[in-house]
Order: sequence, then structure tokens, then C-alpha cells
Amino acid sequence: MNCRQISDFLMAYLDCELDPATRKAFEYHLALCPPCVAFMQSYEQAVRLGREAFECQAPPPRVPEELIRAILAATGATPPGCTQPPDCSKPPQGSKPPGPPSAP
Ligand SMILES: [Zn+2]
Repeated sequence: MNCRQISDFLMAYLDCELDPATRKAFEYHLALCPPCVAFMQSYEQAVRLGREAFECQAPPPRVPEELIRAILAATGATPPGCTQPPDCSKPPQGSKPPGPPSAP
């Protein structure tokens, strides 16, 4: 078995689909050929990562709260956390109620 055949049989080997004789020749070549071992390991890792990416639904990216507030401020909506509307019945503290205009 040569390196070309290793790459051909690699998927079958990882899936345990090789017959015992081919598997033995495959492993015999791996014992003598470090580049093929490295190739198999990188291939195995890529397959595993691909399966994980396919099976596991990644959580949605976390949106920073500052961005939400900036968007809501731009659209004029109330930012989250400020459920109470501004109280307009009372004047803001520190300011005097409007009095009669002073005569000149
Ligand atoms: Zn090889």
C-alpha cells in the first residue's frame, strides 16, 4: 500500500469499513509513514469538527446591550429596563414651575 492508497482508504478506515487484510496493510503503512499519520489525524479532526458544526446548533451571537440601546435610541423606542414611562405630571426636580412673566 502506498500513500495514494492511504488517502483513498482513509475514509473507509475511519468508518471501520475496511476488510481485515486491507486494514492491516493500512496500519502497516501508517507505522512506517509519519506523513500519512499526520494526514489521517488532520483529516479525522476535520471530520469531527464538521460533524460538531453540523450537529450542534451554535448559540446566536450575543448582541451587546450598548448596541441595542443605540439602535433603540436611533429608532426612538424605549430601551429595555426602562419600562416606566417618564412622568410628565410632576415637574423635574430642581426646576421651578413656570410663573407669570416678569413685567419689564
Ligand atoms: Zn504514506
